[in-house]
Amino acid sequence: MLDIVLFSVFFGLYGIVIGSFVNVVILRIPIKESVTLTRSHCMTCGHVLSWYELIPLFSYLFLGGKCRHCKTHISIQYPIVEALNGIIYVVLYLACGISVECILYCLCASALLALSVIDWRTKEIPVGFNIFILLLGLIRLVTDIGNWSQYVIGLFAVSGFLFLLHLITKGRGIGGGDIKLMAATGLLLGWQLNIIGFLIGCILGSIIHLTLMAIKKADRVLAFGPYLSMGVFIAMIWGEQLVSWYLSMWATF
Ligand SMILES: [Zn+2]
Repeated sequence: MLDIVLFSVFFGLYGIVIGSFVNVVILRIPIKESVTLTRSHCMTCGHVLSWYELIPLFSYLFLGGKCRHCKTHISIQYPIVEALNGIIYVVLYLACGISVECILYCLCASALLALSVIDWRTKEIPVGFNIFILLLGLIRLVTDIGNWSQYVIGLFAVSGFLFLLHLITKGRGIGGGDIKLMAATGLLLGWQLNIIGFLIGCILGSIIHLTLMAIKKADRVLAFGPYLSMGVFIAMIWGEQLVSWYLSMWATF
């Protein structure tokens, strides 16, 4: 029991630290600024942050959410993304235990978090995220080579269907970024979990987007990335249970 608590704390702190990198990625990728070369700075006055302003979560609280130099308010997005990424890592650890799978899923979830925020704002998924998740999928394939067909089929199962949809609707039905995303997550999760993630994403997308359109007069254009990401994340946690539940349903007939 104690080791579970200790590992949860470890994964949580690790997630918060990676979460602050996720913030940098969210901010800099759309404006094509280097993610690693430039030191972290205030986006308003350019003040370069010193080490004690770079401690995730705590710096935000300590500085009262303001730049120390120009007193501009720092977006609440920073501590939210950091905390969320920490929670995600703890949940994945509790769901998968310490394994290669767990580490790959954590990294993928951080990428999903970043691309969701960017897709929400710009209606586009930068291709680098899909390449990153595809690489994680390749590592999964190599480290679990006995089940290779799961992953190779996963690469095409949902993405192939979406590609057809893309051709039929002449690109209006689904964006290219979403197709590549489902190909990459398919290679990482295997076809069964990927299909489950996709279906959950579609359900969440229609419910949440229609609600938003009704109350906030939100855009008619749907940024699908955030919903697909949520679906994939849920499939990482409960997908195995859903698959065996589904199979046992059929077995009773
Ligand atoms: Zn400033």
